[in-house]
Amino acid sequence: MASSDPAPDSAAPRRPRRLLTQNREMRAIGVYNWTLPAWAGRLPDGRTYNTCPSAGICRQVCYARHGTYLWPTVRAKHQANLMFVLDDPAGWEQAMLAELAAPKFRGRFVRVHDSGDFFSDDYTRSWLRIMRSAPDVTFYAYTKEIRRFRWLIEPDPPENFLWVYSYGGTQDAQIDATTDRVADVFPNEQAIAEAGWSSQEASDLLAVLGPRLVGVPANRIPHFLRRLHGRRFSQWQAEVDAERDAHQGTGRVRSITSAPSRRRRDGRGTGTHAA
Ligand code: SF4
Repeated sequence: MASSDPAPDSAAPRRPRRLLTQNREMRAIGVYNWTLPAWAGRLPDGRTYNTCPSAGICRQVCYARHGTYLWPTVRAKHQANLMFVLDDPAGWEQAMLAELAAPKFRGRFVRVHDSGDFFSDDYTRSWLRIMRSAPDVTFYAYTKEIRRFRWLIEPDPPENFLWVYSYGGTQDAQIDATTDRVADVFPNEQAIAEAGWSSQEASDLLAVLGPRLVGVPANRIPHFLRRLHGRRFSQWQAEVDAERDAHQGTGRVRSITSAPSRRRRDGRGTGTHAA
């Protein structure tokens, strides 16, 4: 090695060998996952990040900040994914496309973000290019990035992209439950049924392929259930927003959630999408 060559950095993260993975639940329905570390943290090199900039109350009961997600090997894998995106976005995009070219992805679904969200415009644009370059794959996502989707995606969505706006974020007030495809976390299945929403418990794909008002039963994690306190995410977030507004003296009032819409439509969310 020439003396001017940079010293090898043994702490440098290794690029993930596979970008798309499957857990048991997703394998059963033929879905592959792309995952980032949830919400905020610090990378091994000291950089801080926030992959869910519009997370609200959801971060207090975030499934991806609990259990197996905290195992060092799992966390390292998710952080390696994020570092790849941040350090070499063009290389990551190419690597994702190369992986998606494998025959096993043809006709399959990819869930973008088991955890994490579309945290920046540039990152979102990368995904839009990937989706348009992989028309044989259908991509779907839950997101709390309502404003970003309104202006960056809704006007011209890729044909092979489905999404659902999920409650529990700081942009909940931007969601229109009378027209948008929406997901809300409920205390249990009974609460979903009583509200007239449709549970996605049988298959995560129902979030984008089933009826438009999507109920997600809360994880049965005791301290999370205590925090939820029998509320839906939308209700809890609205309470927090109202408290903040009262504190700031803005006095804004908004409805918490809609009743099941009479305009409920089967199929797609906003815009036109192919399954
Ligand atoms: S947006 Fe999802 S991954 Fe991020 S903090 Fe909320 S629940 Fe967790």
